Amino acid sequence: MTVPTDAVRDLTLSLPRAELPAYVYDLAALRAHAAAVRAALPGRVELHYAAKANPEPGILDALGPYVDGYEVASGGELDHVAKAVPGRPLAFGGPGKTPAEIVAALELGVARFHVESEHELHMLAELARQVVPDARVAVLPRFNLPVAAGSLADSSLAMGGRPTPFGLDPSRADTVVRLLTDGTYPHLELRGVHAHLASGLRAPQQLAVAGSVVDWAVRLAGRHGVRLAEVNVGGGMGVDYTAPGDRFDWAAYGAGLARLGDRYPELLLRIEPGRALTAYCGWYVTEVLDVKHSHGEEFAVVRGGTHHLRTPATKGHDQPCTLFAVEEWPHPWPRPAAHGELVTLTGQLCTPKDVLARRVPAPGLRAGDRVAFGLAGAYAWNISHHDFLMHPRPGFHFLGS
Ligand SMILES: *Cc1c(COP(=O)(O)O)cnc(C)c1O
Repeated sequence: MTVPTDAVRDLTLSLPRAELPAYVYDLAALRAHAAAVRAALPGRVELHYAAKANPEPGILDALGPYVDGYEVASGGELDHVAKAVPGRPLAFGGPGKTPAEIVAALELGVARFHVESEHELHMLAELARQVVPDARVAVLPRFNLPVAAGSLADSSLAMGGRPTPFGLDPSRADTVVRLLTDGTYPHLELRGVHAHLASGLRAPQQLAVAGSVVDWAVRLAGRHGVRLAEVNVGGGMGVDYTAPGDRFDWAAYGAGLARLGDRYPELLLRIEPGRALTAYCGWYVTEVLDVKHSHGEEFAVVRGGTHHLRTPATKGHDQPCTLFAVEEWPHPWPRPAAHGELVTLTGQLCTPKDVLARRVPAPGLRAGDRVAFGLAGAYAWNISHHDFLMHPRPGFHFLGS
């Protein structure tokens, strides 16, 4: 169960039917959460927000005072984030960067490039020579490092240490460091190392990963007699959709990063979470359109569906939700209602995949009642297939702005 703030509850109940469904972002809650995250981190750990989790301009702006910059992973995000939060440091990552995207990033003066392959390194070097001949472009090669077996056993989206299209294979690390330090590419500077190895980790696992990434990076630099200025240990801090109240332990993580930092006082550490920063501030609110009985089970069809909130379909979970009884029933015919205890909440799409939450305790749920789905502030609207079935788009509301 996840409990909406009073402001979210009031809006859920007061929006006219025709303005549902709607996304509601509680920016006051976001600011409070981001401030707590920032406060839990040692001063010398930099915090970037991974814009792909939710690039809403209001969200990027609300995070501004608490982050040191933003990580973008496409030319589209680069352009969008540079306009939404002008002048803030950007790191440009992501696989398959095109020459046009790299030129745009160079012209914008992005602070750091997370380089995903040797091909990309050669391309960046040549484009930097042409576009910014007087600059030295900061490069952090991204490595797909093996992470301690076991530490990622229950990570839902492990990307590191197994075959993936992300980052450079560690077997290429010495070659890449040589290219960046032997004068081959004078327009590039080896600033550090980047790794983003998994999503959905708890604090102890994240710390184990961060420790092994930093140790590996320092050994790599040592072999070449160079000093790294920074190591970016990535994002992937877990959000538990089955226990929304059980948040990532930022205090333990911050304390662990402080210990890690003490071992390498020269090194700047950076993290780039997305989901764990913004998931909690977003709500998808709607009404029950119909309640149906089918072969012994009950279904409530809500206005909207997974074409707006694809998260439960992609991750295979039940989206946490809060139900609100509405007494008013404006029609002369009987009001559909659930007879049993458990009701599956589905959307308006003509596909059995359009399930938002299975077997939710909802005795007596009726058409016209309202629902607020929580944890909809990250990888929600922006990953959804909006045009499928051509239903209207939701409204967007920003509370506390
Ligand atoms: C997606 C991504 C992130 C953010 O991941 P979360 O799970 O949202 O914290 C950070 N860095 C990179 C390179 C990513 O691809």
